[in-house]
Amino acid sequence: MSTETLEFQAEARQLLQLMVHSIYSNKDIFLRELISNASDALDKRRLAGLTDDRLRADDLHIAIEADQEARTLTVRDNGIGMSREDVVGLIGTIARSGTAETLRRMKESAESAELIGQFGVGFYSVFMVADKVTLHTRKAGEETGVRWESDGGGTYTMETAPDLPEGTAVTVHLRPADEEDALHDYADAWKIREIVKRYSDFIAFPIRMGDDTLNSMKALWARPRSEVGEEEYREFYRHISHDWTDPLETIRMRAEGTFEYEALLFLPARAPHDLFQRDARHGIQLYVKRVFIMDDTRELLPSHLRFVKGVVDAADLSLNISREILQQDRHIQLIRRRLAKKVLSTVKDLMTNDADKYRTFWREFGPAVKEGLLDPAEDHKAILDIASFASTAGEEPTTLADYIARMKDGQDKIYFMTGESRAQVENSPHLEAFKAKEYEVLLLTDPVDEIWAEAVGDYDGKEFRSVARGAVDLPAEEEVPEEKSGAYAPLLSWLGETLDGVKDVRLTTRLTSSPACLVSDADGISPTLEKMYRAMGQ
Ligand code: ADP
Ligand code: MG
Repeated sequence: MSTETLEFQAEARQLLQLMVHSIYSNKDIFLRELISNASDALDKRRLAGLTDDRLRADDLHIAIEADQEARTLTVRDNGIGMSREDVVGLIGTIARSGTAETLRRMKESAESAELIGQFGVGFYSVFMVADKVTLHTRKAGEETGVRWESDGGGTYTMETAPDLPEGTAVTVHLRPADEEDALHDYADAWKIREIVKRYSDFIAFPIRMGDDTLNSMKALWARPRSEVGEEEYREFYRHISHDWTDPLETIRMRAEGTFEYEALLFLPARAPHDLFQRDARHGIQLYVKRVFIMDDTRELLPSHLRFVKGVVDAADLSLNISREILQQDRHIQLIRRRLAKKVLSTVKDLMTNDADKYRTFWREFGPAVKEGLLDPAEDHKAILDIASFASTAGEEPTTLADYIARMKDGQDKIYFMTGESRAQVENSPHLEAFKAKEYEVLLLTDPVDEIWAEAVGDYDGKEFRSVARGAVDLPAEEEVPEEKSGAYAPLLSWLGETLDGVKDVRLTTRLTSSPACLVSDADGISPTLEKMYRAMGQ
């Protein structure tokens, strides 16, 4: 069988370069990445076996073999394996769009080191310690396997490999040992043991070396809270999220009774790049009695909380449960409501107990959370309770409660103005009368603000009111004196006839320094919304 030489995709080459030159000080993590991939492959194999008898496998596990003489380390699994196309598409390319996009941005900016620290590099991290990597894999159910090899340069080789067991074996040819650096001898059994214990203890399949099983396999969410350390939560978060930044907050829940479940949720510290893409993945994995069932479980959290990562382990579902059934399951709907409530109440706690974390959360996820205000079935009060907004009162965002506390005597509405940026909104002539009166105005600049502000109505009995609307009932918008309007009448009617699309031109006391401004009808749509509809072709 002939050997083929292929080129890595451009972004993949770029990432490999970074790996070969070791951008991370902590090289140990390559092993956790290989184990994490093996564990994912075992999950997939187990699931496939549920619906197809031929794919069923006994004793799903991970085996690590170290050879001090040859200076190799092999991580082997009897999981789903990869076809030839899989290897080209998954290993030869960076399939995760987020990573590819980050790399593209890196080319254009100087903040490379910072950016790269933000995402998991997965399989390629092995090139931090290897001068060559050999991968043998055979997809479950297929006849022949593939041998893949690369030194992390621009190319890799592939050839057909007969007689392989189903699953994957990654053999790392370790770079020559640094004499002084016994700490980083990855062919050393103790070193391997230590890394597995530290990073991969919770992995649900046995990780074996010789006759020993190195990990406890205990699901974090099933262990008493007092026994699980912060570092373990962080490692688990990395495993399920592929995010290398530590989570902002960890949430544990447990329900007993007729429908039992346990949940372990994480609020990430940064928004993923695809937060606002239609096909953005949701972060919840569903388990049934410790067994992984599916990820991207949209049924378990509303879409405005799609960024929350974690696991829900439900005791009373069938292992064969399908998405269709999930969608109709009354218990699942109940869990969804409770999880959503818990997430919001956790953020509320952050507001009082950890203002920095709260600010980070709202900066990263506020624009998504506010989408919940567009759903009539959601609890708008609970969302608005944790919201904060830029305001004319100062540089820092304000909560609605604080806004209300500052309201002037006689003010009974929450005034807001929407637009594209704070600067644009702040310079708007619409604000002048409010500035003069010292009425605070919320400055809303997220696209979603246009819509919810119109839809929600009120908070705590105080109506939301756009300052760009007609007849702003500022108590002091006085009548324009008769003689003045008389004098301006010819000018006003000339303007009315000349300006296309303008309904009416009148004198006002609402402006203090600008000569004129455009307002909408009190019951019309706001100018920004109008612009948005026009942009959407409506
Ligand atoms: P990620 O795990 O975040 O998807 P990786 O770079 O770690 O990214 O792996 C890329 C892909 O290669 C995986 O998504 C998986 O499809 C495939 N892969 C890697 N290792 C294995 C393995 N041991 N068995 C089967 N597929 C694997
Ligand atoms: Mg991976």
